[in-house]
Amino acid sequence: MELDRILQSQGFGSRKECRGLVRHGLVTIAGKLCEDPFEDFTTEALVLDVDGEIWPYHAQAYLMINKPVGYEVSQKPKHHRSVFELLPDPIRARGVQAIGRLDEDTTGLLILTDDGQLIHQISSPKRKIPKVYEVTLKHPVEAALIEALLAGVELHDDPEPVAAASCEATGEHTLKLTITSGKYHQVKRMIGAAGNRVEALKRIAVGRLQLPDTMPEGGWAWLSEADLAALR
Ligand code: URA
Repeated sequence: MELDRILQSQGFGSRKECRGLVRHGLVTIAGKLCEDPFEDFTTEALVLDVDGEIWPYHAQAYLMINKPVGYEVSQKPKHHRSVFELLPDPIRARGVQAIGRLDEDTTGLLILTDDGQLIHQISSPKRKIPKVYEVTLKHPVEAALIEALLAGVELHDDPEPVAAASCEATGEHTLKLTITSGKYHQVKRMIGAAGNRVEALKRIAVGRLQLPDTMPEGGWAWLSEADLAALR
């Protein structure tokens, strides 16, 4: 593929802007300064150096963010900052979207991609992809709470009871809870309906994909093939 097209596909601007980057001497590949914006490169295992930053080529963008408190999962946030601000500009420019939402005060694993098919697959209620949360509660965990969550609780707008796929106490005030649907404020409403209250909520896994312990809040990473397989 021609270099200006490659750069454009990776979010570095219009083809004209990308030709400008090359002509200004800002693009290096394999240690060699690129001078011709129309030079052909194979994209497999291609690593771009653009203005001193390293960018492995990705035909499509698959990413995870460890979402901090205080960010909305929205391109046009109303009250807080946008979680998309945590991504570098070229990735944002690719038009990545979040798969599912987390509340402003929820932390943890958020998947983003520009692959519409994957968004559709993972979000489909039919797939029942498990989402695992660490929940911190206002009142101590009681056996009755866990029983109620596993048996199913009624949410106000929904006559069908919603049950946790699994639920276990991990401390006096903490639970590990797995749900396979994705209703609005689902975990908070389930816990409320079962007579307790969520003080803090962190998503630690989607499917078999776990949030790495080493990823700081606000950090992001490309997903590997293995990560993608774990997600599907
Ligand atoms: N359930 C909630 O209540 N909030 C979230 O952010 C995610 C699941």
